[in-house]
Amino acid sequence: MARIIAIANQKGGVGKTTTAVNLAAALARTPKRVLLVDLDPQGNATMGSGIEKRELETSITNVMLGEAQAREAIVRCGDGYDLLPGNIDLTAAEIQLMDMAGREQKLKQALDTVRDGYDFVIVDCPPSLSLLTLNALTASDAVLVPMQCEYYALEGLSALLDTIDALKGRLNPALEIEGVLRTMFDVRNNLANAVSAELTNHFGDLVFRTIIPRNVRLAEAPSHGQSIIGYDKASRGGVAYLGLAGELLRRQRERMQKSKEKAA
Ligand code: ADP
Ligand code: MG
Repeated sequence: MARIIAIANQKGGVGKTTTAVNLAAALARTPKRVLLVDLDPQGNATMGSGIEKRELETSITNVMLGEAQAREAIVRCGDGYDLLPGNIDLTAAEIQLMDMAGREQKLKQALDTVRDGYDFVIVDCPPSLSLLTLNALTASDAVLVPMQCEYYALEGLSALLDTIDALKGRLNPALEIEGVLRTMFDVRNNLANAVSAELTNHFGDLVFRTIIPRNVRLAEAPSHGQSIIGYDKASRGGVAYLGLAGELLRRQRERMQKSKEKAA
């Protein structure tokens, strides 16, 4: 059964969508079966996967409102993963959802019907702690937090992790932190290096060893409707996201090994 990972950070422009699309594509390069869910009304993950967000017959919105089954909305993308696409309709859906019973459970219910068919489900969240993000956190096994190593990053990260902790109790006690990912990293920037060092001091193993560099190819790929793996997998960005997928799989193996040892 799939491990469901939400890519979340209430800040915009930190690399959530870039990470969601490229991690999905990198994992799909292995024998793993991957579903990417676009839960952001901006539909950037949908467009970045080569699917026109304005021409969706069925989308995640219909699924969350109970008008369609998840499998009816899923499409196959060129880079080897499946997509549950989303667009601006999600904004209206969110308002409708407010009045519904079990409003935080809609995505979980939808994904329960398809998760058997995948090894990983990656959920791209909007830049807020809205009802949509709460749906993602309720449906997920773990949350991956992309962040830029800026001056206020540590403060913001602590606040985000506290918020996730507070939500956990109410919505999803089993929710884990998959890891914190340093994105758009520039090794020539002293401040970024200092923040990065402090981050690993503070959060230790929670921080992925893989660092995503600032790389123009990563910014170009979406305009071709491709992931970096399809567009230029040998670029520094491509190598980094393939490395992230490898690290994630390794950490998962280690976790399983540990829980086996515990059970024995
Ligand atoms: P979010 O989803 O958190 O709002 P995005 O993934 O959309 O953030 O990234 C914001 C912008 O930065 C986009 O234009 C994206 O192409 C660009 N970008 C993201 N990661 C990188 C990177 N590592 N190097 C260069 N540009 C990047
Ligand atoms: Mg985004």
